[in-house]
Amino acid sequence: MYYLKMLIDGQLVDSISGDATVIHNPANQEPIAEVPVGRREDVRLALNAAQRAFPKWAETTSQRRGEILHEGARLVRQRIGEIARLLTLEEGKPLKQAKREVLSSANALDYYAEEGKRNFGEWVPTESRQTRSLVIKQPIGVAAIITPWNYPVDLLAWKVGPALAAGCTVVAKPSSKAPLAATAFAQAVNDAGTPAGVVNVVHGSGREVGAELVENPTSRKIAFTGETDTGRWIMEHAAQHIKRISLELGGQSPFIVCKDASIDDAVESCVQRAFSNMGQICISVNRIYVADEIADEFISKFVDRTVELKIGDGLDPDVDLGPMFNEAQRQKTQEHIADALGKGAKVLCGGHEPEGEEYKRGFFFLPTVLSHANHTMRVMREETFGPVAPVMRFKTLDDALRLANDTRYGLAAYIFTNDLTTAIYAAERLEAGGIGVNVNSVIETQAPFGAWKLSGFGHERAHYGLEEYLEIKHIRFGLVR
Ligand code: NDP
Repeated sequence: MYYLKMLIDGQLVDSISGDATVIHNPANQEPIAEVPVGRREDVRLALNAAQRAFPKWAETTSQRRGEILHEGARLVRQRIGEIARLLTLEEGKPLKQAKREVLSSANALDYYAEEGKRNFGEWVPTESRQTRSLVIKQPIGVAAIITPWNYPVDLLAWKVGPALAAGCTVVAKPSSKAPLAATAFAQAVNDAGTPAGVVNVVHGSGREVGAELVENPTSRKIAFTGETDTGRWIMEHAAQHIKRISLELGGQSPFIVCKDASIDDAVESCVQRAFSNMGQICISVNRIYVADEIADEFISKFVDRTVELKIGDGLDPDVDLGPMFNEAQRQKTQEHIADALGKGAKVLCGGHEPEGEEYKRGFFFLPTVLSHANHTMRVMREETFGPVAPVMRFKTLDDALRLANDTRYGLAAYIFTNDLTTAIYAAERLEAGGIGVNVNSVIETQAPFGAWKLSGFGHERAHYGLEEYLEIKHIRFGLVR
């Protein structure tokens, strides 16, 4: 058993009430850790600590902040085995993928250690020769960071990195369902020489701890990743204090395969993006549209490749897929499949839990391919957040684009084609913050990651990520001669 603490003002502490809860391993439901349950008063302590630490941190040079972030990255890499193991134990993803996530979190710190030094201002031309105008960017203040359970380390790191580089102090609330690896990451950043109060971590429910972070006027910025409904609630309540917010919310990403695509590449990319982390990824492939001419070949290869995926406990080095995160996720997946079957879909593989003693106690589910999908089905309209890939055929590219855009979400969209004109035509018309052409990810360190429509707004990564934590100030000088 691990005994987790909160990190407030540089100290590892229990909750004021002394309450704690137990985290279980989704592969076998064994208890793995005890975690303090914070309340509003714990959050206030953390916010006050962050507020006290802010002026000095804001005035620390970007060089020095960069040195601390680089040291944080070094410590995260040094502790990768321990952090990744915690991640697999609490979230279920295979250890190899957990290590990739932890590495990515170290990269976030290294990247923003340098990007913080490029927080340039502008000396702008003025209307009069008697005045001069300087534009500078300064840290917003205390940033509240609220993150979900599916990529708890990565999603925290790509907020903490830019926030600290910008000169903000931070109070982070990881998901109460998967707080272990995120806290170990934050601890490494704290151990890197970050002054007390600059990085704080509180544990507890979204309804209480998360709500206090949003409602308390001390936090001037809310950086949130999670469900669209939660994002809407945060937006409404942050409005009371006109806080800056960035929201990375749910997705419902289409994957279009054109008749001229390299079918094998499309199949492999699609299998990985539909099923990795059991489909519990915001940019997961949720809907597949295949050109009629190649649909039979694509579908048959897609199913063959899907059934090859090895499923099991994420600590087993040979598995491709771990368990789902919890019973609620598995149930939602089953409900969406049942709804689709009731509306004419056919199961080509999967559709149920795997058989065998080793799967009995975990939240396992077979990756599932559905044919004959249509847009009346919940799998085609809502975010399943599970290992289900529904396939629909199309006749013309415009039909495919219309279907792809027939969603309230706008996070990612993918298209596979070997024709440049088709690629550009489609990429310009797909309604999403990130478009993958012949690739299955829209994440790139030096490019913005963000969303359209109900998937949110604001950006992470690149210099765009840093801007989210900065205020703009215009300083106007009158010249006296
Ligand atoms: P939730 O929205 O349920 O929770 C996210 C975080 O918000 C958790 O820490 C949660 O706390 C907290 N929270 C819940 N209610 C409130 C509230 N009223 N005020 C403040 N904080 C609150 O999302 P999930 O954890 O279920 O994560 C899955 C979702 O995240 C999916 O919709 C997925 O698409 C989305 N996501 C989006 C990404 C993107 O980049 N667009 C990336 C990854 C995931 P608690 O844990 O206690 O409930």
